[in-house]
Amino acid sequence: MISPTQTNNTNAIDFDAAKLQRLGFCNRQSQHIVPPPVDLPQLIHQLGLHLQTSLEVERVLSIFFQGVQRWMSLSALTYDHRDSDLHLQLGERSHHSANYSLSNEGEYLGTLLFQRNQRFTEQELADLESLLACLLFPMRNALLYRSATQSALRDPLTGAGNRIAMDQTLSREIEVARRHKQPLSLLMLDIDHFKQVNDTYGHSSGDEVLKAISLAIKGQLRNIDRVFRYGGEEFLIVLSNTGRESAAMIGERLRQASHDLIYPILDHPLELTVSLGCSTLLPAESADSLLRRADAALYVAKREGRNRLAMAS
Ligand code: GH3
Ligand code: MG
Ligand code: MG
Repeated sequence: MISPTQTNNTNAIDFDAAKLQRLGFCNRQSQHIVPPPVDLPQLIHQLGLHLQTSLEVERVLSIFFQGVQRWMSLSALTYDHRDSDLHLQLGERSHHSANYSLSNEGEYLGTLLFQRNQRFTEQELADLESLLACLLFPMRNALLYRSATQSALRDPLTGAGNRIAMDQTLSREIEVARRHKQPLSLLMLDIDHFKQVNDTYGHSSGDEVLKAISLAIKGQLRNIDRVFRYGGEEFLIVLSNTGRESAAMIGERLRQASHDLIYPILDHPLELTVSLGCSTLLPAESADSLLRRADAALYVAKREGRNRLAMAS
């Protein structure tokens, strides 16, 4: 039977916490009083239940790490997923390691590296394998959940962020810029005469050009800069902690890179250019106004002949 506990500040009953407490999993502060599990099957059972409480890769791994630590000494757990940008490390790295590749029915689920400062015994390695079995399905579910939430925020053609992601990022970046008194700039980029590409080479060639441009833009930016597909052949680049002059330099670099690109259309070395508008956050400015000013600057760049960058006033 589950005996509910009450949280400190409200009268809400937290059944999950109650269940986990009964199973011997408590919060960080009270970890030292958790009794060790009686045997491995008992730990596997408890861990299996605990792992079902989250769909986040980071949380699932952290629960697993703590669970394994209840059975054997372990200083670090590192997780890598080669097909995604996932790389996580829990704890402090050490000399001795045991490495496992997780897969389920041929589906790769990542690589795990366990580390500590003394060798793993044969028995411990066998125990680790038994414990890893209970990570398999929670990890697969967490990876599926991650990929679903990520694709909800991504433009399927170019892989750039979509408008939902853009709105979220912009609000967050404006908040960070205000809090840390840092500059923030936007570049609105539009491909020049893109309609002609579609008209001349067909829509699917146009799609290939969009992918190539998006890749070329990303290749010119820092990891922290984000690219969003704002509309058909328009991209928005959010430049964190970047003032007007640096943003102008980056914009110029993007213009040049797009110009230098060899577009993937058979036998036709296609010459394409882009125009850009740049705006930098003003005190107390809203996201809408910042976007509007970048768009207005882009319009000026188009009007003045395209293949250029214009700065918002
Ligand atoms: P400008 O220099 O003034 O920007 O001219 P433009 O031809 O680039 O601009 P216009 O707005 O006239 O045309 C944009 C074109 O982009 C028209 C539309 O069919 C095309 N487009 C929008 N989204 C996609 C897409 O996902 N794939 C392809 N292939 N074309 C797209
Ligand atoms: Mg255009
Ligand atoms: Mg356009």
